[in-house]
Amino acid sequence: MTITLIPLPYAEAALQPHISAETLKLHHGAHHKGYVEKTNDATSGTELAGQPLEAIIRAAEKDGNAALFNSAAQTWNHGFYWHSLTPDSAAPGVNLEAAIIGNFGSLENCTKALAAAADDHFGSGWAWLVSEGGTISVITTHDAGSPVTGTAVPLLTIDVWEHAYYLDTKNHRPDYVTAVIENCLNWSFADENFARATCWVYPA
Ligand code: FE
Repeated sequence: MTITLIPLPYAEAALQPHISAETLKLHHGAHHKGYVEKTNDATSGTELAGQPLEAIIRAAEKDGNAALFNSAAQTWNHGFYWHSLTPDSAAPGVNLEAAIIGNFGSLENCTKALAAAADDHFGSGWAWLVSEGGTISVITTHDAGSPVTGTAVPLLTIDVWEHAYYLDTKNHRPDYVTAVIENCLNWSFADENFARATCWVYPA
């Protein structure tokens, strides 16, 4: 068994006008696909071949295998990102909403913190809404950095690598971040992650 390029959970044009079909086609069909292929190439014939993606990521970090970590973690991060977006964005469920209000005072404050983290992150990386023991916070990771190797449970993520938005908003990252936060966040996915309280598993 090898790691697969999981399909987008919606059509390439489904997030327009916030994220263009052109961006999603390239982001999923070239960037994500490339990370999947590099992961499979690097694990082929090794004891990691056939292992779940999360195990490959943790082993690569433990072994200091930066090339494998980067491709494997980026494979996972992108899978999580596709599910963090939806054309049918709705409000968080009552349990997650209560936790957010408990930590941020309001959902608006929470999304403002997420936007600020995404806007201000220097260089390539990811902005995440995470839960640790029910406490909700915003973190960022650099390059391929992923919560898979940490203790916090990721709820949602926003890809802030330039390839996520450059075709649509050029050098204006905040325009992409605002459009995503206001229109495309999959709070149902966040609810599922919050209720499970364990890390989402990349589909086999
Ligand atoms: Fe990306």
